[in-house]
Amino acid sequence: MKTNASLLMFWDYDTQWGGDRSRTPGGPKDWGHLEFGNTDRLLELHAEYGVPATFAVVGAAALPGERPYHDPAQVRRIHASGHEVASHSFRHEWLPGLDHAGLVETLRASKDALEQCIGAPVNSFVPPYNQPFDYPEGMAISIAERREAGRHRTGLGDLCAALKETGYAFCRVSYRTVAEKIWEIVSRKQKDAPASIEVIRGIRCTRMNAPGGFNAQAHRVLDLCALTGGIVVVGGHPHSLHAGNTQDERMLVPFLAHARDLHKQGMLRLLLPRDIITEGS
Ligand SMILES: [Zn+2]
Repeated sequence: MKTNASLLMFWDYDTQWGGDRSRTPGGPKDWGHLEFGNTDRLLELHAEYGVPATFAVVGAAALPGERPYHDPAQVRRIHASGHEVASHSFRHEWLPGLDHAGLVETLRASKDALEQCIGAPVNSFVPPYNQPFDYPEGMAISIAERREAGRHRTGLGDLCAALKETGYAFCRVSYRTVAEKIWEIVSRKQKDAPASIEVIRGIRCTRMNAPGGFNAQAHRVLDLCALTGGIVVVGGHPHSLHAGNTQDERMLVPFLAHARDLHKQGMLRLLLPRDIITEGS
């Protein structure tokens, strides 16, 4: 396929580890149990439309134990279906608040648990809450992270350096530059443009460049990438598949159909992070 337009699709598989550590108003949530049935449904849908995805799995979920915290058999089914299993930390930690030792520990424990579960390498990472955002080298400053995380905090550069140290090769990132933030405040909308691969401290990264979910804006970024090239990075949470929001199955199915059609027309590559790692090596 000649086009360099590519789709990277992610599901953040949080389970109840993520529910317990929810940072949205109201504190801990109990949606963890929804992850499992909805993931089975996602595996059916992705197979039906022939679109592969990356499931960013909390490492502890791959250890033996019961739902809503564990389901190693389902993690193996995800891998066996041809999707990529990425790490989403060990217990859905808020990474900006970790010091270097804590950071290395969660990255290592998650990689080990997932690799032992699926019997294959896990080289890609998706940070919980999409943070850290703070990345001064990329002109991105997060005052909130600096205020809350304290002295030993982890910024995006520190995260990528630790990922390199622990054997990862890819990271999904979400920082916004100061200029982009100003543009977004003035125009009152999110700036969504095709993304490219950037290397941060030896780690190949792509930025989230569409809103979470599969609304009209996600379709627009997809169409724009198909025309002009570049990467569209979309994602959601399995537990939200029937939540009635932009991650709902009713929004997802037309998006999958659209991606499949563009792919059939030779206008879109369906990528996984492991393809990006291989292409870059
Ligand atoms: Zn998460």
